[in-house]
Amino acid sequence: MNKRAYNFNAGPAALPLEVLQQAQEQFVDFQGIGMSIMEISHRSKQYEQVHHETQDLLRELMNIPSNYKILFLQGGASTQFAMIPMNLVKSGQMSSYVHTGSWANKAIKEAKLFGEVQIAASSKEQEFKEIPDLSKLAINPKAAYLHVTSNETIGGIQYSEYPNTGDIPLIADMSSDILCRPVDVSRFGMIYAGAQKNLGPSGVTLVIAREDLVQQSPEHVPTMFRYDTHVENNSLYNTPPVYSIYMVNLVLKWIKGKGGLAEVQQFNTEKASLIYDAIDSSNGFYKGVAVPKDRSIMNITFTMSSEELEKQFIAESQKEGFVGLKGHRSVGGLRASTYNAVPYESCKALADFMIDFQKRNG
Ligand SMILES: *Cc1c(COP(=O)(O)O)cnc(C)c1O
Repeated sequence: MNKRAYNFNAGPAALPLEVLQQAQEQFVDFQGIGMSIMEISHRSKQYEQVHHETQDLLRELMNIPSNYKILFLQGGASTQFAMIPMNLVKSGQMSSYVHTGSWANKAIKEAKLFGEVQIAASSKEQEFKEIPDLSKLAINPKAAYLHVTSNETIGGIQYSEYPNTGDIPLIADMSSDILCRPVDVSRFGMIYAGAQKNLGPSGVTLVIAREDLVQQSPEHVPTMFRYDTHVENNSLYNTPPVYSIYMVNLVLKWIKGKGGLAEVQQFNTEKASLIYDAIDSSNGFYKGVAVPKDRSIMNITFTMSSEELEKQFIAESQKEGFVGLKGHRSVGGLRASTYNAVPYESCKALADFMIDFQKRNG
């Protein structure tokens, strides 16, 4: 095999090499059955074992209480933007959102299709470079929930603490930071995440929901968009994305092998620090986008003094084997996504490259 790329893609993103190799070994012949896992019924005992084991691994790693359901849905996190208000906002209610950037904005847009939306806090005036102050949060008592975007993948900001919402359920889009650190699941009404950043390949969306919130959807909601359909059938109402769930299963075992989420968090913090240190010690050659207190350990965003220099940085980095460092098309600049599966070695190599590039061009 050629050398693996230094993969800093934002999503779909790096997967652990060990996981890819395991999947490769089992690709043609899964557990000696003479078929791949993609070629068998989702009602077979082989697949059902994978399905349940994946749920058990999540419950164990995230310490998910027994009154929470674990669902495997399709349509990405983007479908959850609509499914949440469609199912949870009952007549006479509204929804409440914290606006922190591009992904929060997309969630808000969908919620507006289903009723009144309160923007409980926003960092728009700070150009989404920080998480707004949530200590004086006044959530409308008619709100069915408060929605937050745990990590803004494009802007590079991340909650270090989640707001207290009292009796109002807290819902978090954790698409780009699920399993990057321990979280207290019992503080949330719902957590959801598209898989393709920190969990596995695209195709499956994880939903972790407190039972009472997903037991009964409004009557008019179509079958496939109802949480209660998927709860009643344990995400086997129709054919689930079998291969994606199987890959998530392998990724979860890999995380377990690392020792769990506290270890993963420490590892992620060390990796991100390598790159933030290169930014902070550059005397302004590199400028971090996020306010330091809200810097993401998953998506590191920075800029340079001119677009030409940024282009040169990207071109030279590509020659050295770095992939995915261009910022999102909506904001420009540079971004290094350092998800769980991105090795320490890649982050060290990037920090070294940044220091060297500055020496040559600073
Ligand atoms: C990528 C991303 C999404 C969209 O996920 P899809 O699975 O592509 O719909 C939503 N929210 C956040 C925070 C993301 O990073």
